[in-house]
Amino acid sequence: MKQKIPTVIITGAGLGGLSFYHALIKNKDKKEFNVKIFERESGPQDRWQGYHIGINNFGARSLINCLPSSVASNLPKGMPNPIPDIECHGFSLTDHTGSLLLKPPSKQFEDVYGVANSTSFSAIITYRDRLRDVLLEDVPVQWGKKCIGYEETEEGVWVFFEDGSKEFCDILVGADGINSPVRKQKVPELQIFYFGITQINADVAVPKSLIDRLIEINGNCLFQKTLGLNGDVTFVIYRLIPIEQEQENKNEPHYRASLAFSYPTKLDDNEKIEVDDNNPGSVIDHVKYMIRKLRPECDLTNVMLELWSLVPRTVPDPKKHPFKTYNPVQRRQMQDINPLSVNAWKSSRVTLLGDAAHAMSPVLGLGANNAIQDADVLSQALVNYSPENYLSCIKEYENEMLKRTSADVLKSRNSTLRQSSPVGYFGTIFRNNIMRAVNFVMNTFDYDFFSRK
Ligand SMILES: Cc1cc2nc3c(=O)[nH]c(=O)nc-3n(C[C@H](O)[C@H](O)[C@H](O)COP(=O)(O)OP(=O)(O)OC[C@H]3O[C@@H](n4cnc5c(N)ncnc54)[C@H](O)[C@@H]3O)c2cc1C
Repeated sequence: MKQKIPTVIITGAGLGGLSFYHALIKNKDKKEFNVKIFERESGPQDRWQGYHIGINNFGARSLINCLPSSVASNLPKGMPNPIPDIECHGFSLTDHTGSLLLKPPSKQFEDVYGVANSTSFSAIITYRDRLRDVLLEDVPVQWGKKCIGYEETEEGVWVFFEDGSKEFCDILVGADGINSPVRKQKVPELQIFYFGITQINADVAVPKSLIDRLIEINGNCLFQKTLGLNGDVTFVIYRLIPIEQEQENKNEPHYRASLAFSYPTKLDDNEKIEVDDNNPGSVIDHVKYMIRKLRPECDLTNVMLELWSLVPRTVPDPKKHPFKTYNPVQRRQMQDINPLSVNAWKSSRVTLLGDAAHAMSPVLGLGANNAIQDADVLSQALVNYSPENYLSCIKEYENEMLKRTSADVLKSRNSTLRQSSPVGYFGTIFRNNIMRAVNFVMNTFDYDFFSRK
């Protein structure tokens, strides 16, 4: 007798949920599922998705595994091929004056396939919004469907939505981000860890002359981090591909860049400026106030202040804004979730994927990479699905996912806490010398302490 086709429901159409959707459809010759994907947002451009992320060799490999060739061929729209001899897809760490501390060896490559095939660490700087657009192609996302919970029975799972509707499935995959209602119900003991660190992110269009000044001080890596003396950290991630010109800027090329600034939240205590998180102008003034307060006067500080001055103070005209969607800049508290911090995982018809299970600090750029690997591993495990053994498929996935991602959550957490500890003047000398020694070893022996083997 022909078996009925099982139904998989995915809640959340982010990078993880969409990769998983494609992987299940791609594998349908091996195992066919009826796949439905639900998203709380009202449409593809509802929320700011603009910032840049690094997709590393593990993430790229899994992404290519998940995608059918028709979608994979569009990946360069979200992760354009590097410009040879101009772009350096790598990471550099400098101190508050721009003096180099660390630049791990990273292999340059021609395209995302080169990253995927690399046996040592490499990463391609990716436009997150455009990668999501690529992943959305041909996916029948059901928009405006906010999941609020589920009920598991012997036969399957009822999934409930805020609009009062419900859907039945054989397997429910919560890919619904850090505040996942599916996680809160499945593993209520799992607590969010708060770092006591404030982070502010923004996307900007930067004129060539300012990018040139940044490169002159900090070198030409596309992912740059600087460490201050007080636990304050700046990130700039950019591509050197000119964005479409706005009328008033057409004389000078502009580039897309993502900025982040973080500092120990307790430093807010002595702060004199009142910050209104609903007013982007006030948040930008606050960032600039903190940079002036925590950083010495120098060229690098001036460049950082100029970069933050480019952030829109009010909602920009979407036709002129290079990132299509816009969310006002806001201060956020850094958080993570270590999925192995509790013993409560019990495999069932309901499982989790991506930030829903293991949100991590963005400091090492591992969150999306792990979400995409989850999609790959879970889809492979489900190839062996049958009504009798579905539990062992889910268990196989969870055993791998929990171990891999817990290690990365903790690695990212330790790195974040270390870089955000105030060191003071003498501590800086010690820290900088250690880092330079590590840098020497890594580059002399072509060894990257930070990459996963
Ligand atoms: C500044 C910054 C820089 C980063 N840099 C990197 C990097 O360089 N490399 C890297 O790998 N990662 C990076 N990350 C992390 C990365 O963006 C996330 O880990 C990744 O987006 C997680 O994907 P996801 O699909 O699990 O979750 P999300 O992208 O959060 O997607 C979840 C989806 O679920 C939807 N949803 C939420 N609740 C519900 C509900 N109740 N019902 C239905 N739908 C719902 C959401 O609207 C969303 O669309 C960075 C993050 C930040 C903030």
